[in-house]
Amino acid sequence: MPATVILTKRTRFCAAHRLNCPSLTPEENLRLYDKCNNENGHGHNYQLIVKIRGEIDPVTGMVINLNELKKIIKERIIVKLDHKHLNHDVDFLEGINPTAENVVVAIWEQLNPAIGDNLLYELELIETENNAVFYRG
Ligand SMILES: [Zn+2]
Repeated sequence: MPATVILTKRTRFCAAHRLNCPSLTPEENLRLYDKCNNENGHGHNYQLIVKIRGEIDPVTGMVINLNELKKIIKERIIVKLDHKHLNHDVDFLEGINPTAENVVVAIWEQLNPAIGDNLLYELELIETENNAVFYRG
């Protein structure tokens, strides 16, 4: 029985966003989202850590083809998010308030079908040095 391991791949993107809830007053939005409520948006240096869980292939000694994984993450996520405004520029975030929580779920929905084989185990989206969210689908 091949051993099951978890591997992680760290990627980075820089993006702007504005967090704002239309059902709250401007004062309430500012209190809730603070700097992230800035009217013209502001930026974060995000890190996305993709965790893959699966059995080691006895032939290749790997769980997944890392080049293919890199290509999927680049094409589906990095190209679409890097140096973009998350409120305006990203098709799969349209109409979504781009909190780290909402963004990590949307990223999962982009990556999971492309990676396939039930291999995607967990995503970690790091928004600041001190704030990160995790999602396991
Ligand atoms: Zn922010």
